[in-house]
Amino acid sequence: MQRYFALNESNTENVVLSSNDIFHISKVMRNKIGDEIEVAIDNKIYLALITSFTPFNVEIIKEKNEDSELPFLAKLFFPLTKMDKIELVVQKATEIGIKEIYIYSSSRCVVKLDDEGFNKKINRLNMIAKEASEQCHRLNIPTIKGIIPFKNIPTYNSALNLIAYELEAGKTNELDKLLSNNQGDISFIVGPEGGFSKEEVSYLINNNYHKVSLGKRILRCETAAIYFSSLISFYMER
Ligand code: SAM
Repeated sequence: MQRYFALNESNTENVVLSSNDIFHISKVMRNKIGDEIEVAIDNKIYLALITSFTPFNVEIIKEKNEDSELPFLAKLFFPLTKMDKIELVVQKATEIGIKEIYIYSSSRCVVKLDDEGFNKKINRLNMIAKEASEQCHRLNIPTIKGIIPFKNIPTYNSALNLIAYELEAGKTNELDKLLSNNQGDISFIVGPEGGFSKEEVSYLINNNYHKVSLGKRILRCETAAIYFSSLISFYMER
């Protein structure tokens, strides 16, 4: 059943959906009065009956007992790259269950964009995260923030902090042990196309990060982010 995130919080009496969602319900799904949809409000899922289209109204029938979220918070730090890569990562990381996505800038990021430029893109990224959350039946939509200066990354530290480092590729890997033993939130970072400088890696290690390998092959940064997210999700849900 199609799921939609309500714009209003904690009010099941008067559910407000976006005009895009109402268009989707009426013109794409061709729903009629009396049809049922799922509505997400404040991390809860409700079964709702469409009672009118002009204005659009639904009546909540019951709460559904569902939990599709990861048991711990997972925060992904992804470099400032071309927007098509960021969009792909936002969509896939959302489907995998990542809750917070931070776009950061570092010395080897090729794309240069200031906060104002990034703020113009954020609506589209939020829309991609919302649609992906609806499609994969999450309870909430991940938050996306940017642009985080590299030196500020440790202010978002978690119980476990991991850096995928290309110079670790193929080396004996601690990742399995670290993820198997972990019982808390995780922050994890992937580097840009040009990788990390030695100073950046030292800075993160001095701030409680562990460097890990993602295997023998050097992955593109977007592949690395999706692969790393998948491993974290797999271990958290084991
Ligand atoms: N320019 C770098 C080089 O030539 O070695 C490659 C950077 S790679 C395209 C982008 C990022 O993906 C890296 O900074 C790292 O975070 C991650 N990455 C890719 N493959 C990896 C691997 N096998 N192990 C660990 N991290 C990897």
